[in-house]
Amino acid sequence: MTKSMRIPKILILGMGGTIAGIASHPELDPLNYEAGRISIQQLLGGIVQKDAYHLKTEQIANINSCDLTHELLTRLVNRVREALVDEDVDGIVITHGTDTMEETGIFLHLTCAALCRGSQKIIVLTGAMLPSNAPGADGPSNLALSIQVASKMSTQSNGILMQSGVIGVFAGRIIAAKDFAKRSSDQIDAPVKDSPELTNSIMSRLLSEEDLSYPELGQSWPWVEIVTNHVDPKPDVLEFLKNQGVSGVILAGTGQGNIHQNLLPVIKEFSQRGIPVLRCSRTGLGVIRHNVSFNDDELGTLAAGSLTSAKARIALELLIYNRLIGKSLDFKKKLATM
Ligand code: ASP
Repeated sequence: MTKSMRIPKILILGMGGTIAGIASHPELDPLNYEAGRISIQQLLGGIVQKDAYHLKTEQIANINSCDLTHELLTRLVNRVREALVDEDVDGIVITHGTDTMEETGIFLHLTCAALCRGSQKIIVLTGAMLPSNAPGADGPSNLALSIQVASKMSTQSNGILMQSGVIGVFAGRIIAAKDFAKRSSDQIDAPVKDSPELTNSIMSRLLSEEDLSYPELGQSWPWVEIVTNHVDPKPDVLEFLKNQGVSGVILAGTGQGNIHQNLLPVIKEFSQRGIPVLRCSRTGLGVIRHNVSFNDDELGTLAAGSLTSAKARIALELLIYNRLIGKSLDFKKKLATM
């Protein structure tokens, strides 16, 4: 039997989230629920046309994704990378909470996209905004489309043929998983509301040449914190982080990633000590460019492009880790590809 005639074998990894959530009074108050209550196997119960696939499920975690940890990210990526080289797996779907879907999306993109390309497989990240027992729950349709995309049975998004990559599926939209960003607390398309359409140019940027390494289980991750700019900020928080030995800082600036003058002297000290400081915008949308509206060359800061502060943090943790293990990396060039 040729590969195209085979029934696709899809591995579904459950991480928890609202998609696996249960509301106590689903009719009256669907948004008052507990995330991560039902298993990934139970979730499949709501999926039609299951016979078109061989579906295998595994529960990596069953949490509210606000509680996501580095350890769980490592467990997830280890399993995903194993499955990418397993001939018995044609595609992978991950069900996940929406709170930190953007972190997991960029993390998997940076650590798996090259392997996806080599194995010609698709990883799909999905979830839901309504718990599993709410009227009109969005989980089943998001999961069904994800399975189709991972099986390459729904290969057309905006006329694009998807053969490999780390993809996001939500509210009927197919995007790059690295472009997830939850910018609403309650809208049904919250994680993809402002995410760009999957164009040929975005697809080509998903074709990574080399995956970044990540800390193994039990190893600690570089310490990176997010500090927000606002009216009259005190430099004390940055001073504290510097004195405590932070490895990197994300500055969630105002507007175009602007930083209050109160903070500039301490920021300069970070750069002088070789501690990377990345600028993004607390607005959560738009592109922060080098030396635009802020003198990065003088302050020694780096512009985070379109990364939100949460995504920039994951990216910087990985970049610092890869430098620590001896990879020669130009952070500025690498960030420009994200
Ligand atoms: N708090 C939930 C979670 O991230 C939200 C969701 O899944 O929509 O797990």
